[in-house]
Amino acid sequence: MVMASREEEQQIRAAEHLLMASGEDHKRLTDYLEAQSIRDKEISRQEEEEEVVQATQLQRTIVHVTDCRTLLCSYPFCLIVKSQFYHVVGCRTRIPGGCPLCKKLGFLLHLHALRCQQSQCRTPCCRDLKERHQQQRQHQVAGDRS
Ligand SMILES: [Zn+2]
Ligand SMILES: [Zn+2]
Ligand SMILES: [Zn+2]
Repeated sequence: MVMASREEEQQIRAAEHLLMASGEDHKRLTDYLEAQSIRDKEISRQEEEEEVVQATQLQRTIVHVTDCRTLLCSYPFCLIVKSQFYHVVGCRTRIPGGCPLCKKLGFLLHLHALRCQQSQCRTPCCRDLKERHQQQRQHQVAGDRS
């Protein structure tokens, strides 16, 4: 049993707070995520380029998070993506059109599944989504023939 230092304890509490975010905290968490993604790089006018860079890193992080067992991991976006996973599991937000945070993570998983080549991938929903993509493709092929 390793005792956490006071500084670590504070970080754990901050992480726990993020994990429990719901309702009004949603906006704060979203703001936090945005601030985090901007902090590392200069703010460029080419927002599209920035989004691509961030999306690429997030794709790597999603795969990393699946196997990450480190509470205070320093891998880019690890704590954020982890907190999103926890959020989705416990989300009770009833917003018309769905919870933006849940949608954001859903989109990332979707992107991952589109590119993923591993048949035994353990990333959440990856195999389900891949099957769905395959079915959609088969439908499209069938539709083109008619
Ligand atoms: Zn990690
Ligand atoms: Zn949600
Ligand atoms: Zn995968």
